[in-house]
Formats: sequence, structure tokens, C-alpha cells
Amino acid sequence: MLNRIDLRDAPSATDGIDRDLLPRAELDVEAALEKVRPICENVRHHGTAALIEYAERFDGVAIERVRVPVEELDRALAALDPAVGAALEESVRRARLVHRDQRRADSTVRVVPGGTVTERWIPVERVGLYVPGGRAVYPSSVVMNVVPAQEAGVGSLAVASPPQAEHGGLPHPTILAACALLGVTEVYAAGGAQAVAMFAYGTEECRPVRLVTGPGNVYVAAAKRLLRGVIGIDAEAGPTEIAVLADDSADPRLVAADLISQAEHDVLAAAVLVTPSVALADAVDAELARQVPAAKHQERIAEALAGRQSGTVLVADLDHGLAVVDAYAAEHLEIMTEDAAAVAARVRNAGAVFVGPYAPVSLGDYCAGSNHVLPTGGCACHSSGLSVQSFLRGVHVVEYDREALADVAHHVVALAEAEDLPAHGSAVRERFAADRKADRKV
Ligand code: NAD
Repeated sequence: MLNRIDLRDAPSATDGIDRDLLPRAELDVEAALEKVRPICENVRHHGTAALIEYAERFDGVAIERVRVPVEELDRALAALDPAVGAALEESVRRARLVHRDQRRADSTVRVVPGGTVTERWIPVERVGLYVPGGRAVYPSSVVMNVVPAQEAGVGSLAVASPPQAEHGGLPHPTILAACALLGVTEVYAAGGAQAVAMFAYGTEECRPVRLVTGPGNVYVAAAKRLLRGVIGIDAEAGPTEIAVLADDSADPRLVAADLISQAEHDVLAAAVLVTPSVALADAVDAELARQVPAAKHQERIAEALAGRQSGTVLVADLDHGLAVVDAYAAEHLEIMTEDAAAVAARVRNAGAVFVGPYAPVSLGDYCAGSNHVLPTGGCACHSSGLSVQSFLRGVHVVEYDREALADVAHHVVALAEAEDLPAHGSAVRERFAADRKADRKV
């Protein structure tokens, strides 16, 4: 059922593995850039009117305003299914435990007597949080965006999510309820690239923000790439990916269920099994053939599993499998092997790692306490998932007294001259002009 890629004879080191041989979505963010450029310009120049136009064109709903009235948030919370409300509260509680622990204290290093550098961590003033709502709706992404922003101490935060035709042009009620639960009062019915442009440039209704975070489809990713600089962004978090590194000890029923769980997101979602066991690969295929037809979103899942972004990669052994998963750098990586914790400890590149049979990705999607906004498309080899750190800036505060500067002045002058920037040296010398007159050292 999954495409099979036989890499058993491929090089065993991560660097030697040809990444083009690995399954990967043909997600052409560059091509989408051309599509989103006019959308962003239109929002920049026409604000709310442009957002209303795109709600009609892309979301199929006529709306009159983009800002969601606070009463709608309260109403959605009051009408929320109690089981969903309880689950969201538990998700928030666990996410807070983990994210609160990420906060970093300011620290001061005494470099020399009289010379210190303090690193201060200062929250971004105002952020825009994107919550997807095209094919599926993601109240869980409200939690994953808002909790780290709040724990970082961000003062002003706004949420945007696509308007839904079946909900009168408001974002989905569970998204509104999740916002209300978290005390967020500024919510906009805007999706895709236009929502990112609204945050970046501001409109009549929405003040511009400094940073936009959150997952989304290719248009959201392209708008973030295009407007980076006007705004800060987190990593590009596009269509979801799961890789499972498994050996003969894995239960094919669980491997198949986990691959399906992520394929359910999107026809572009990637589901990849990496295994040295042909028997396991065959058994997972058989399980997929059994489980997919029983799934609610079977068409979307079948398309995602059949796409070139999904497949089974056969490897020589587990060491080779580790090299392959490091080369792939999956958003989510499950380890379903003997001694899974020891194998997981050797992983270098992944957005998040899920260890053993009782830590499926869907636990991490909702209730593990970990963050589910994670880098995709191989970006996990250089970027991290969303965290408190994403919302903080580290600022160095430099304090040197006269003696401490005098001690190092000749080094500053030497380096300034080596770079042919003599004014840099002069700026230091000037401070000791009186001493020079008195014939002292600098
Ligand atoms: P979305 O909210 O990202 O996108 C919907 C919006 O896309 C619409 O409102 C519309 O404005 C815009 N759009 C649709 N067609 C368009 C077109 N032809 N031209 C321009 N704009 C268009 O919702 P989605 O589409 O369901 O995608 C959500 C994605 O987020 C999925 O791929 C899912 O896998 C991913 N996701 C990723 C993570 C992560 O951490 N990596 C987490 C959750 C979800």
C-alpha cells in the first residue's frame, strides 16, 4: 500500500544519504509565493475590505467584519461540549507545566573585574497567532500557540483563524471557545496568506504585530516567508509528517494506526515507515489495507499515503535506520523498537520524538504537554518547535567601568585597525584623551 524505497545498499552515514531518494512532499512554497504576493499587497493597501473579499473567494462566506465580538467568544465557551472543555483544560494544564519550565532567568557574567554582560530575556510586545481551519479545525493549535506566548509574558496577543461558512463567517466555535478558555479576547476571522498580511501590516481593525507564529498550509507558509523581516516568524510549519522507525518488535497494527492518524490531516501529509524488517513492512501494508477503509476521512488518508511524500524505506539495520531518519528530519518521529529509549537518545534531527508503544503522535498533538507546532519539510535539522523561547528576545546589557575598559582598550584598537575601521578605535581612545595628555597608557 505504501510506496517502497529500498535503501538497504545506500551509504550508512547520514551525510552520505541522498535526501532526494527519501519520500518528501512536493510542497512548492516558492511557487505559492507568487500567488500570495498580490494577496499580501491587497491587504496592505485595502485592509479589512481585502480580507472580506478573500473570505468570500477562498472561504466561501460573506462577512461584514473581521474582528470577532467578545460576546461570540463567551457564547462559544458556554456552548462547548463539556467533554471537549475538560480535554482542553487538561491540555492547557499539561502544556503550562512544560512551557513554564522553559522560562529562562536573566543572567549576569562578570567577564573581568568591573566588566559584566547581562543577558535579559524580554518578551515580544505583540504577537499574531495563526490557527488553521481549512480542511480540519484545530482548537489544539490555540493551546499550542497561546500557552507559550502567555508563559513568555507577551503583553498583547491576537488570534486569526479562517471564517467558516457553516458558522456564519466566524472561526469554528471550538476555536473561539479555546480562545475564551485561555483568556484571549482579540480574535479575527481571517485565514491563509491574508491573515498573515493582516498581522504584518495591520488594518483598520487589527494593530500590526511584531511576530507571527503557528502552523498552516502552503499559503500560510509562503506568506510567512514573504513577510519575514516585516514581522518575525517561527519555523515554517507546513503539512504534517510522521516517520516511524520500527523493527520486528513493533506491533504493525499500532504502526499503521499512527501513520493513518497523521495522514488524516491533509492530502499532502507525509507518513513514512523506516524499517530493516521486510516482514514488518508487509504486515503494516496489510494493516493499512484493513484500517484505511474503516477511517472516517479515508479518501484524504488514501491520497496522503499514496503520495510521493509517503512510503516505506527499507534499511540495512537500525543504525542505518537512525542515519536515514536523521537525514529525513521528520516533524514527528516515533521509535517503535526494542529498547526504544536508547534508540531515541541517538536521534539528532526531529521536531519531536515519541518513544515506545505508549507515546503516539496523537498524544503529542493534544495532551502530552509538549508543543505540536513543529518544523516540517526537513527544517527540523536546523529549527525547533514553538516554545517560550520563540516569544522572547535575548538582549545583552554591557556594563564596563573605566578601569575595565582601559585594560582592554589596546585590543579594541588593534582589531579596529585590522578591520580598517579606525573610528571604532578613536571612540575608545577619546575616553582616555585626558590621560593621554598626562602621558598615560592608551
Ligand atoms: P489553513 O487554515 O492553513 O488554510 C486555509 C486557508 O487557506 C483558507 O482560509 C484560505 O484563505 C487559504 N487558501 C485556500 N485555498 C487557497 C488558494 N487556492 N489560494 C490562496 N489561498 C487559499 O488550513 P488547512 O488548509 O486545513 O491547512 C492546515 C495545515 O496545517 C495542514 O497541512 C496541517 O497538516 C498543518 N498543521 C501543521 C502543524 C505543524 O505543527 N506542522 C500543526 C497543525 C496543523
